[in-house]
Amino acid sequence: MKNFARALRYAWPYRGRLILSFLCAILAANLWSLCFTSITPVLAIVTTRQSLQDWIDEQIAETKKLIDGDQKKNELGLAKELDRANEIENRLVAKIAREGPNEEIEHQRRDNSRLLTRLEDKLSDARSDIYRQQLARKFIYRLPKDPFQTLALLLGVLTAVVAVKGVFEFFQDSLVGSVVNLSLFDLRNRFFRNAIHLDVNQFSEQGSSELMARFTNDTELLGQGTKTLFGKLVGEPLKAICLVVLACFISWQLTVMFLVLVPVALFILNKLGRAMKRATRRLLERMSSIYKILQETFQGIRVVKAFTMEPRERQRFCNATKEYYRKAMLVVNIDAFASPIIETFGVAAVVGALLAGAYLVITGHTHLFGIRMTDQPLKAPALLQLYALLGAIADPVRKLSSVYTRLQSGAAAADRIFACLDRQPRVKANSEGPRLARHQSHIEYRDVCFSYEPGRPILTNVHLRIPFGETVAIVGHNGSGKTTLVGLIPRFYDADHGSILIDDVDIRNANLRSLRQQVGLVTQETILFDDTIFKNIAYGNRRARREEVEAAAKKAFAHEFILKLEKGYDSSIGEAGSKLSGGQKQRIALARAILRDPAILILDEFTSQYDAESEEKIHQALKEFMRGRTTLVITHRLNTLEVANRIVVLEAGRIAAVGTHRELMAACLPYQRLHEAQFRRLCA
Ligand code: ADP
Repeated sequence: MKNFARALRYAWPYRGRLILSFLCAILAANLWSLCFTSITPVLAIVTTRQSLQDWIDEQIAETKKLIDGDQKKNELGLAKELDRANEIENRLVAKIAREGPNEEIEHQRRDNSRLLTRLEDKLSDARSDIYRQQLARKFIYRLPKDPFQTLALLLGVLTAVVAVKGVFEFFQDSLVGSVVNLSLFDLRNRFFRNAIHLDVNQFSEQGSSELMARFTNDTELLGQGTKTLFGKLVGEPLKAICLVVLACFISWQLTVMFLVLVPVALFILNKLGRAMKRATRRLLERMSSIYKILQETFQGIRVVKAFTMEPRERQRFCNATKEYYRKAMLVVNIDAFASPIIETFGVAAVVGALLAGAYLVITGHTHLFGIRMTDQPLKAPALLQLYALLGAIADPVRKLSSVYTRLQSGAAAADRIFACLDRQPRVKANSEGPRLARHQSHIEYRDVCFSYEPGRPILTNVHLRIPFGETVAIVGHNGSGKTTLVGLIPRFYDADHGSILIDDVDIRNANLRSLRQQVGLVTQETILFDDTIFKNIAYGNRRARREEVEAAAKKAFAHEFILKLEKGYDSSIGEAGSKLSGGQKQRIALARAILRDPAILILDEFTSQYDAESEEKIHQALKEFMRGRTTLVITHRLNTLEVANRIVVLEAGRIAAVGTHRELMAACLPYQRLHEAQFRRLCA
């Protein structure tokens, strides 16, 4: 629940709306319970066929009779009884004064005092009753005299009250909905801001589909939890409390009888809530695996089709959704279980109170098992009113029963969201650090060791010094650590040991933004965004002018084919993407790097998708582009290797040799083997 409480803090900026919604809920709840008080007058009119005026007069007469007594029946009223008790008191006091303290008189006096207090209480209650009845009388005498008209008026008022209540409920729902959605909006943005600053390898640990599930499905469930909380937690208990208070006016003892089952119901709800949290966590995990399968299948659709693996993928998806269905049914059943259980408890409690009440009505007693239940014998309409009030509590209580389970669902989602949100990038942005001046001297790997997981070194004691302007090619078997080695420069991750210096500044001490602004990266896997070609080239250089973008595209040999597209530079990648070849997409990526004019250029197997025809041109463009900047290129292409000033041979994370193509061919056995195995095949 701690994380759920943290999620609720996102609603704090919108507390004004929340308070307003609470006010609406309070008003709606009061109006709702007010409707139930109409039962007594309606019943009075229907059963006695009296007008309300006669009825209120009768009520007043009865209360007066209680106070003043009935001479015909020789009954003393409360007032007279009180006078008599006062007389007795005076007599007893006088007797004590005359005869001195006497145990028997003291005893009589104690009994009399108790009677006095009870009579005083009753008299004051009766007087306040009469005051209220007089007030009601004034109002009732303004109503029509005919019983049917009075009834119609009462029911008309009832309908109007329900309509007004509906207006308040609408505003409450709308306000709560806006608070929930606004706080989800803030939470998602905060989450995205956090996620985008995570390290590159934290993404691969987490899995992008897993993250996407948390952004969509989990936040949605959290939203449902908060909506239930804000929407139901004020209005529904308030309705129940209003009804309990009204019921207490009729007989608080019978109402307490009804309430004894509340702790038992709470205990059961607590158990169900815990089960719900567990079930929801599993449900969300299953949804994450569905996202994963979707992402893998759609991204790798070519492979799936080429290997005719559609049936397998279908089966995999079917299994995942079946699993999800099972977990979803568990959640549904727990949720559905809460409501009838609470309802049964509610009815059992009402039945208990009703039986006791009915016994009092039938026998005309005021005591049950020796306990006083009502001051005066209970009448049938009062019992029916009590029953209606207690029965009506079932509705808010049933709604409340789902609140706890839904909150627990939201709490499970909040746990998963905050587990991601709390992740801190290991690479610190160092935004206060000194800005790195444009690289112009050298890059140095100084005794660099790196591992993704403890105990599995990927790079070991790498020493390498690259003067400014040099082109260094990196070769080695798959998994020898080439990508890792170049990824250390833009600080996708930091070295575990040793350091990397650019112009003698340890990159960890420099401002991260200023470092990355100097690096141009073109990878084998072309990443284009769903935007126009112009914006894709200008990515990272948003203020670039049209001529600059076109000049960069020309240098990357992309200008011609872009112009052939229907909307030229304004064609969207989404529409044109399917018409572009892998090589064309790579040229757009190259134009993007050229426009950025980086001091350090990293090419990771970049040329692998070029067709033979444009290869020579691209090679020329690259040679041109590499001039005046330091380039690290991972490649197996002979023509690139020949233009490289030096070639670094990596073997299992160690530098096996450094030299030119000629030197290595002459003296380096691993390089020769690599050449034999790969280069010949590639060049053939
Ligand atoms: P190369 O580019 O030479 O093929 P890489 O630098 O990509 O090699 O990978 C070197 C080793 O590091 C491989 O064994 C690979 O499995 C491992 N590796 C790469 N990225 C990660 C990662 N994010 N987490 C864990 N291991 C990784």
